[in-house]
Amino acid sequence: MSENFINPVCKVCGIAEATFPEENAIFCPECLEISEQLFDQEMRRVELIRIIRGHDVELYDIKHPDSLAEDDHCGQVILIKAGQGFEVKICLRSDALDWMEKLVDTETGFTSPDNRLDALIGNVSLLIESWGGGPYYVDFFSVDKVFSTEGEL
Ligand SMILES: [Zn+2]
Repeated sequence: MSENFINPVCKVCGIAEATFPEENAIFCPECLEISEQLFDQEMRRVELIRIIRGHDVELYDIKHPDSLAEDDHCGQVILIKAGQGFEVKICLRSDALDWMEKLVDTETGFTSPDNRLDALIGNVSLLIESWGGGPYYVDFFSVDKVFSTEGEL
């Protein structure tokens, strides 16, 4: 008797057969759909508000309704066009939000393998695409304190 090839079990529910992605299946169709819905929802909750629009650089405030910081502020994204690609600096206030928190459907308790940071990166990817796309490099900075100063010379 020959052994049949069997797809692995879904990594999320642990019950149904995983069929996606084809190469290295981790999701069953149902969990894939719920995960995508949660991801889209979270992407809409992460707000990137453009503060400065330059020729080769843009600055965005990151806002999230669950942020503990004043004005829902979570940090900033600096997007720099550099040659054919992009340099991205993401500064996150360390005490504002737990970006590693997994996305959970509060009604069913379903836990997605994605976290909030994935949704933030999803939003940043859209920015890069809107600039024509290309290779990019992202640095994350976790900051404890924010100091501001201003002046005129
Ligand atoms: Zn599943």
